[in-house]
Amino acid sequence: MPSYVIPDKCDGCKALDKTACQYVCPNDLMVLNKDLMKAYNQAPEMCWECYSCVKICPVQAMEVRGYADFCPLGATVTPLRSTDSIMWTVKFRNGMLKRFKFPIRTNAEGSAVPDGGYPSPNEDLKSPYLFTEPESCGMADLPPVK
Ligand code: SF4
Ligand code: SF4
Repeated sequence: MPSYVIPDKCDGCKALDKTACQYVCPNDLMVLNKDLMKAYNQAPEMCWECYSCVKICPVQAMEVRGYADFCPLGATVTPLRSTDSIMWTVKFRNGMLKRFKFPIRTNAEGSAVPDGGYPSPNEDLKSPYLFTEPESCGMADLPPVK
C-alpha cells in the first residue's frame, strides 16, 4: 500500500528547501504544502512502495499499510532507523503493538570500501566487464560470449 503522511506528526522537515521524503522518493511523488508545512504523496497510485520515504522521515511521520505477507491486513507499519539497525513497529487493528529490530549493516558506518578493494577496478565504459570483473568473479578472465 502507498506511503501515508500522518499530518499531526509531519513538521515539513522544519521548512528546509527540500524535505527528506521529497529528496529520497525515486518517483518524485512527495510534495510539500508550504502553507500548512505538511508533505503528502501526490499520486498514491504511482507509488512503488519502496518505503524509502517512510524510512528516511526524521520524525516517523509516515507509515505504510503492509501486505498480508508480512503483517495482518489493517495493521500499520512504522520504521525507526539508527546507525546500525532498523526497528519496525507494527500496530494491529485491535491496538496491539509489536516491535521487530533488525541489524542493517555488518561493518562500521563510514568504513565501507566503495570499490571493494579489488586491485584493478575496470573504468573502461566500453568494456563488457562490470566494475570489478573479472576479479570479483574469482576468475582470471571471463569466458567469451558466443
Ligand atoms: S520527511 Fe517526514 S517530516 Fe519531513 S516532510 Fe516528509 S513526512 Fe514530513
Ligand atoms: S514509498 Fe517509495 S515510491 Fe512511494 S512515495 Fe515513498 S519513496 Fe516514493
